Amino acid sequence: MKEIILIKDGELSLKGLNRCNFEDKMISNIKRRLKSLGEIKITKAQSTIYIEPLSEDFDFEEALNRIKLVFGVAAFSRACVCNKDMDDILLKAPMYLAHTLNKIKTFKVEAKRSDKSFPFKSPEICREVGAEILKNFSHLSVDVHNPDEIITVEVRDYSAYIRAGQIHGAGGLPIGTSGRAEVLISGGIDSPVAAWTMAKRGLILNAIHFASPPYTSPRAEQKVKTLLSKVAKYSGTIKLAIVPFTEIQEEIGKCCPEDYFTLIMRRMMMRISQRVAQSDGCSALITGESLGQVASQTLPAIASTDGVCSMPVLRPLIGMDKEEIIKISKQIDAFETSILPYEDCCTVFTPKHPHTRPKAGQCEAAEAKLDIEKLIENAISGIEYSYID
Ligand code: ATP
Ligand code: MG
Repeated sequence: MKEIILIKDGELSLKGLNRCNFEDKMISNIKRRLKSLGEIKITKAQSTIYIEPLSEDFDFEEALNRIKLVFGVAAFSRACVCNKDMDDILLKAPMYLAHTLNKIKTFKVEAKRSDKSFPFKSPEICREVGAEILKNFSHLSVDVHNPDEIITVEVRDYSAYIRAGQIHGAGGLPIGTSGRAEVLISGGIDSPVAAWTMAKRGLILNAIHFASPPYTSPRAEQKVKTLLSKVAKYSGTIKLAIVPFTEIQEEIGKCCPEDYFTLIMRRMMMRISQRVAQSDGCSALITGESLGQVASQTLPAIASTDGVCSMPVLRPLIGMDKEEIIKISKQIDAFETSILPYEDCCTVFTPKHPHTRPKAGQCEAAEAKLDIEKLIENAISGIEYSYID
C-alpha cells in the first residue's frame, strides 16, 4: 500500500497573496529537514502539502519526528493513497488501519470530498467505510460524539486518502518569513525560551553571548551552546558570537558607581549586540526579559537600556510569569540544561543594591568615565564565532 505524509498549514491560509511565498518557504524548510532520509516528492494543493517518499525504506517515524519541529505546520499525518474508487477505498481502509483499530474500542468516520464529481457524497462515504470497518473488526462500535479515533477519508483531485487521527504541528510561521534577529543568550531559563518564541514567528536567529573569563568558565559557554542546539532543532543553524566581556566589567567596576553596575553593563551589552546584529544582517534584538522579574527589568531600567539602541528590541516574555516560561522551557527540552549551576557575567558582578529606577540622564552620568567606543571596539575584535545546529 502506498503511503504518504499530509501536512496542513494553519495560519498560512490567512496570508492572502503572500501565501504562496509562505508555503514555498515551509516546503523548502521541510525538504531540508527530511533530506537525509532519502528522496521525496513534495506537491501542494488546497492548503495541503503532500510528501511522497520515493524509496522503499523511507523512515516514516523519523520523518514525522522531524516535521513536528517545523514552524508553519498546523497538523500532519500519515495517510494511505487509494484510487478514487469506492471499492479500492473499502479494500484498503481495514488493512491500512488494522494496527490502529486493534487498539481502540470506538471510532467515527469523517469524509471530505473536494472533488465533487466523485459519485458518493460525504455522508455516504462515511456510512460505507464505517460499515466495512465494523464488518472486519467485531470489537468496535461507532461513537460519533466521543470516539477513541477519528478515521478520515479525503477524496481529492488525483487520489483518495485514508488516515487515522492527526498530529499537532509546531504552529507559527515558517523560519525565514519574518527576517533575521540577534538573540542575547545567557545560560538561564528565559533567553532560550525567548529565542524559540521568536523563531516560531518566522525569524532566522543569530545569537550573541557575553563571557567574562576567568570569572566565567568554558563550562558556561558550553552550556549556552547546548541550549542553542535545543533551539536550533526548530530554528535551523544559529550563528553564535561569543564576546569577551571581562575588560568592560572590570572597567565598570573601576569607573562607575556600584549601584549602576548592572544597568551600565546591560547598556554595554545592548550597544555591542546592536553592532554585531547590524554587521550580521539582523534587524532586531531579542532578549529574555520579563517585566519586574529582576532589578534590571523594571520599566525605567528597560527604558535606560532601550535608550542606547536604535533597533527594535523584541521581548517576547515581557508579560509572562516564570511558570509560563518554565513550561515552554520544558516543552523545548531546554529546562534541564538551563538549571545546571553556572556563573553568568551578570551574576559575577552583581551590586548589593542595584538601581531599579534610574532617571533619564543618570546612567549617562554614571558611565561618563568609560571610554565606551574603545571598549566596544576591543570587545568586538575579540569575538569568536561558531555555528550551532
Ligand atoms: P535568563 O534566564 O535568560 O538568563 P534572567 O532572568 O537571568 O534571564 P538577566 O540576567 O537580567 O535575566 O538577563 C536578561 C536578558 O539579558 C537575558 O534574558 C538575555 O537575553 C540577556 N543576557 C543576560 N546575560 C547575558 C549574557 N551573559 N550574554 C548574553 N545575553 C545575556
Ligand atoms: Mg541570566
